[in-house]
Amino acid sequence: MPSSRHPRSPRQASLFPLDDLIDASEPRTAAEPSPRAGEDMSSAAARLLRIREIVAEPAAAVSPRGRQILARFPQARVTEVDSHWRIPHLHGNEGNVERWVRVKTETLILGVRRTLATRPNGRSADWIAPGASNGCAMACAYCYVPRRKGYANPVTVFTDIDRILAHLERHVAGQGRKPAPNQCDPTAWVYDIGENGDCSVDALISDNTADLIRAFRSWPTAKASFATKFVNRDLLRLDPRGRTRVRFSVMPQEDARLLDVRTSPVPERIAAAADFVEAGYEVHFNLSPVVLRPGWEAAWAELLRQLDDVLPAAVKAQAAAEVILLTHNRALHEINLGWHPRAEELLWRPEIQEAKRSQNGDDNVRYRTGLKGAAVGRLRELIAAHAPWLTVRYAF
Ligand code: SF4
Repeated sequence: MPSSRHPRSPRQASLFPLDDLIDASEPRTAAEPSPRAGEDMSSAAARLLRIREIVAEPAAAVSPRGRQILARFPQARVTEVDSHWRIPHLHGNEGNVERWVRVKTETLILGVRRTLATRPNGRSADWIAPGASNGCAMACAYCYVPRRKGYANPVTVFTDIDRILAHLERHVAGQGRKPAPNQCDPTAWVYDIGENGDCSVDALISDNTADLIRAFRSWPTAKASFATKFVNRDLLRLDPRGRTRVRFSVMPQEDARLLDVRTSPVPERIAAAADFVEAGYEVHFNLSPVVLRPGWEAAWAELLRQLDDVLPAAVKAQAAAEVILLTHNRALHEINLGWHPRAEELLWRPEIQEAKRSQNGDDNVRYRTGLKGAAVGRLRELIAAHAPWLTVRYAF
C-alpha cells in the first residue's frame, strides 16, 4: 500500500466530516445499478459503488485482503477507525438519512471480525456462518440489516477471511455427514454465508465471496447458500461445482420498483437463473418479502407465471423456494419516512399488522396471525396453480 494512503497518514486526519468528500454536483437520487441497454457489468458495478472513502481498522488495512481492496479503489481516501462498530458519522447519525444511498455508494469499511461463531438456523440453512461482511450497497426499504449498525450501513468487509475459512472448515469437519434429509437439503449441511449483506455485491469489492465458494466446493458434506438481489455475472466464472446455492429473491416488479432500491430488476434476476445453473450453482428462489396490499394475489400469480414461462427445465428441475411474509420494524418505519415515504405506504399497515417483540428486543410488526396464515395458504395455492414444479421449502 503506498505510504500516502496508509490509514495513519497525517494527510488523512482532516478528511472528515464526510460532507467534505461529497461532490454536491452529483445527483442525490438512487442510481439504478443494473446494466442498462448496451452497458456492461463493470459499468453497472461502477454505478452501484463509487468508493471515495474507505474507513479502516488498522489491522484490516494492513492485512493481505485489506491491501487488495485498497489497491482496487486507488482513488479512495483512507481514514483510520478503532472499531468498525463505532463510526460516529455513519452509525446512529440520523442526519445521514438524507444521504442514505450516497453513503452506501461512496463509503466502504474494512474491519476484522471480533468473534467467529456458527449458529444453528433450520430455516434458510442448517447453519448461519460468520459472515465475511455486513452492510449492503443496496437499500431495500424493508431491510433488517441496518437495524444492527444503524442508518446508512454501507458495506463492511471483514478482511480476516482466512480465519473465517479455517473456522468453517473445522465446523464442517466437526459435523460429519448429515444424518438425515431435511427441508434445507437432502444430503448437505447448508451454511448461509450472507446473513447480513449481499454476497454478489461483496464480490464487486473483494475476493471474499470467491474464496468462500471455492472453499465449499472442496467440502463434500456441506453447501454454501446466500440470498441475493444483484446479478453479478462475474460469479459465473467461479466453478462452484454444485456446492453453492444462490437464492435469487423475487417479488412482483411493481413492488420491487418501489421497495428494492438499487437492486437488479426482478426480470433480470429471473433471467440469470439459467446461466447460474449452467455455471454449476444450485439456484433457488426467495419469494420475499410478500407484501400484502390490494392486488397482491394477482401480482404474485403473474410473477409465478413469469417464472414458469421464462425458466428452462434445467432450472425448474432443481429449484425450490422460501416464502417469507413481510416483517417490518417501527424504528425502520420512522427512518424510512425521512427518505422514502412512498415505500412506507406499502410496508406500514397498522390496520392489518400486529406487534412482535423480536429476540433482540426490537419492536417489529408482522401481519396479524389469522391474516398471515391465510396469505401463506393462498400463496401456496398460487404456486401450485402457476408453478407446480416449485417446491416450497418453508413458508411463514
Ligand atoms: S439486498 Fe438484502 S442486505 Fe441489501 S439492502 Fe436489500 S435486503 Fe438488505
